[in-house]
Amino acid sequence: MGKYDIQVYTEKCTGCLRCQLACSDLTSKAFNPLLSKIQVFISNSGECTIHFTEECNQCGICVDHCFYDAMQKNEKEVDK
Ligand code: SF4
Ligand code: SF4
Repeated sequence: MGKYDIQVYTEKCTGCLRCQLACSDLTSKAFNPLLSKIQVFISNSGECTIHFTEECNQCGICVDHCFYDAMQKNEKEVDK
């Protein structure tokens, strides 16, 4: 599996949490946002913060599940 640098564009995030559900399904076999390695927070004023935990393996699957272009992934160079 490839590894990716993930760029976030918090201004585009809607807080839908699809990314968290995708990650928790992938890494914990459960649809539980609390188990996700990506955590999205929306403040009372609507500002979004996106945080990756140390357990994130940079697989990029969460990016694939974002419908709002709030994240972009670029494959990392692999030493040969
Ligand atoms: S890159 Fe992979 S492990 Fe990291 S938060 Fe996204 S889906 Fe989860
Ligand atoms: S990053 Fe994308 S998938 Fe995740 S909560 Fe924001 S809009 Fe939804």
